[in-house]
Amino acid sequence: MSVTYVASSKLPTPHGEFVMHGFDEPGTGKEHLALTMGDVSNGEPVLARIHSECLTGDALGSLRCDCGAQLQAAMAAIAEVGHGIILYLRQEGRGIGLMNKVRAYHLQDAGLDTVQANEQLGFAPDLRQYDMCNAMLEHLGITKLRLMTNNPRKIKAMETIGVEIVERMPLQTGQNPHNERYIATKVWKLGHMYKTA
Ligand SMILES: [Zn+2]
Repeated sequence: MSVTYVASSKLPTPHGEFVMHGFDEPGTGKEHLALTMGDVSNGEPVLARIHSECLTGDALGSLRCDCGAQLQAAMAAIAEVGHGIILYLRQEGRGIGLMNKVRAYHLQDAGLDTVQANEQLGFAPDLRQYDMCNAMLEHLGITKLRLMTNNPRKIKAMETIGVEIVERMPLQTGQNPHNERYIATKVWKLGHMYKTA
């Protein structure tokens, strides 16, 4: 899967000014973003978050997951050191899409966990792809990451496509009573590394 660079622009945010870079994925019609701050192409490892789109969490403030809080925390962490990158990948609901996510939430309202709900809809628990990251990082001159993630699968995926992870930085934020079970399921069933208090 390859991506085509489209254009870059400024993106002022409450955390400071990022530069937003757009990439097309011709095979799927998906459109991905990279947000960078500061100099990221000097060969030093870059503080990074690889974030899959979660419209409900990122834009609507949903407390069913921890995505929105993680995205904000990652942007704040990058602003604090003055340079870094967020790859914002448009693969909603661990890859099942927005409408299927509503269906999955409906099943979860009836008692299923996030993995069971996806499986009942006929999907694997996690359909996310990360191949496009390589081309996006290459375009921006980035080879090494200090990756903010709790997800070992993401680290493995980066190693597979040849992106060097020099350090994993945990990103534990946004816990609330509504997503307690969701986070616990990610730990038990998807292998996420999460320290509970
Ligand atoms: Zn989410």
